[in-house]
Amino acid sequence: MIDLKKLTIKKAHEALVRGDFTVRELCQAYLDEIKKRDGDIHAYLEVYSDVMAQADAAQKKVGEGNSLAGIPIAIKDNMLFEGKAATSASKILQGYVAPYTATAIRKLVDAGAVLLGRTNMDEFAMGSSTENSAYGVTKNPHDLSRVAGGSSGGSAAAVAADLALASLGSDTGGSIRQPASHCGIVGLKPTYGSVSRHGLMAMGSSLDVIGPFSKTVSDAEILFNAIKGKDRYDSTSLDVPMAGKRPQKIGVPRHFLKGDGIDPEVMKAFEASIERFRSLGYEIVDIELPNIGYSLAVYYVLMPAEVSTNLARFDGIKYGLHKEGSNLLEDYLFSRGEGFGPEARRRVMLGSYVLSSGYYDAYYNKASAVRELLKDDFAKAFERADVILTPTAPAPAFKIGEKASDPVAMYLEDIFTVTANLVGTPAISIPAGTKEVEGKRLPIGIHLVSPHGREDALFELGKKFLGEDVE
Ligand code: GLN
Repeated sequence: MIDLKKLTIKKAHEALVRGDFTVRELCQAYLDEIKKRDGDIHAYLEVYSDVMAQADAAQKKVGEGNSLAGIPIAIKDNMLFEGKAATSASKILQGYVAPYTATAIRKLVDAGAVLLGRTNMDEFAMGSSTENSAYGVTKNPHDLSRVAGGSSGGSAAAVAADLALASLGSDTGGSIRQPASHCGIVGLKPTYGSVSRHGLMAMGSSLDVIGPFSKTVSDAEILFNAIKGKDRYDSTSLDVPMAGKRPQKIGVPRHFLKGDGIDPEVMKAFEASIERFRSLGYEIVDIELPNIGYSLAVYYVLMPAEVSTNLARFDGIKYGLHKEGSNLLEDYLFSRGEGFGPEARRRVMLGSYVLSSGYYDAYYNKASAVRELLKDDFAKAFERADVILTPTAPAPAFKIGEKASDPVAMYLEDIFTVTANLVGTPAISIPAGTKEVEGKRLPIGIHLVSPHGREDALFELGKKFLGEDVE
């Protein structure tokens, strides 16, 4: 008997077309597993009640040529799916029902995918552990005492624990790649703008992008191809070329990998991955990214500035949580005071501060200027190398509660991932080994960055690295 939960999109698609099993059977296998294990893992905030109706509609599309027909997929709770709740794991959106469907979700539905439910996340995608969710933490399937990463922790854990065949997350500073790394799966942050943000609740609008989680790089590629493309509802969206010179040279910014902030086992796995790429015929070159040390500081100025403006719309008046005061200002204060968790409030305050007159030049403008320098650094690096390789996260998944009271320790989780968002380039995390801690095997990921619109280079390298078939 084949285990329906262990298939890739490719394999499931072939089997569905052959008629080995039905879409209903495939979806039921996932629903059963969710029932069995999600009580412990808490990847989902809601499993949709109409999965079987979706399955029946999808069954009709099997065989029409789309490999996503009948594939059960989970989506992050910050994406709109008409008629369904969407809360960004925030109390302030309690009771909110999506009035329209996000473009990326629409594309999945049109392709015949079955949406299983919405997954847990850090509130408004702010965090690296899902501990900032207003609805409880998601546990790492490899060790339930540890975090799954964040902010898309639920989407990552769902795939890692076979509670969905694949999923979508959003990435503003690492929220797809870091949880993918911690959960031992593949996570792609596409080129900024390559996937429409229409219907994605905004966190940092110049940084946000939707992307896939999957078990293989080939599956990430299938999903990316399904959701990408220019969209008239998002003026920042664009069609990416996805073609060019095949990657040969892998650049490693050695100067950024010194110091004792990186777990020695992560470095060991990283060095082993370099050897693997070498044995696959790639040339490894040393590159310099002179300003990369400022990335985290730049991100934690620009991102909160955008957060503070994006969260201004949640006033408790038109939708979501409403707390009555004795006047309009009190309505706002009470609704926002109670609706937002501590991290959301911290970032609104940080953002308002860096944008305030008198500090705007010192912080916001300065950070924007350094962002430009980072773009130059990457442009120069890509003259020497076709992709850039680093670890995805400085250490494997940490214990629940370990960093919850130390925001800066939490922010350091993003050290290798934020730059791709600031620069807008695509980046992928792929599994590259494990570290054994307390008898558990904790996944370690490596991180590849390519120039804008060159997701194809990431797919090619990733597939070779994982030994997937490459045509
Ligand atoms: N961990 C980062 C943060 O807290 C990234 C979040 C994200 O990518 N959405 O901002």
